[in-house]
Amino acid sequence: MSTLGTTLRAFMLKELAAGMVSTFRMMFQPKVTLNYPYEKGPLSHRFRGEHALRRYSNGEERCIACKLCEATCPAEAITIEAEQRDDGSRRTTRYDIDMTKCIYCGLCEEACPVDAIVEGPNYEFATETREELMYDKNKLLANGDRWESLLARRLELDAPYR
Ligand code: SF4
Ligand code: SF4
Repeated sequence: MSTLGTTLRAFMLKELAAGMVSTFRMMFQPKVTLNYPYEKGPLSHRFRGEHALRRYSNGEERCIACKLCEATCPAEAITIEAEQRDDGSRRTTRYDIDMTKCIYCGLCEEACPVDAIVEGPNYEFATETREELMYDKNKLLANGDRWESLLARRLELDAPYR
């Protein structure tokens, strides 16, 4: 384009006018952005978020301390210690996940024979310190109690693909 043409376009503010027309037109289009955190997008039932340890409906822990999740974790993020209870059942005395190591691969969930350790729908667990991301058994069980209905629904939807 000639220098004269460029000067004329700049003088007439053509780009500015085109931009304003475009802005005005978009004001009447459906919005594509979400007002997060007040609005949230749809989430797949297979989304792998924050971990939780689940219980049976009678309150008993599902985990039988088989340690398959610990063995399969590629990030070595899980640490389990276990003991035998008086009734002969085997239960964990320690179940820690270092969430700073976790890569959210979902292998722990796949390895678990009793659907005890699962990854839930929660992705809003950012912290200010690394220490807060060292999850212990109490924290994981509390997550399970908090999300149980959603976790159970999620597993139900996923069952045909497992
Ligand atoms: S999601 Fe993957 S990396 Fe994270 S704890 Fe489970 S197995 Fe380990
Ligand atoms: S969470 Fe599941 S895989 Fe891990 S120790 Fe407990 S029962 Fe075994």
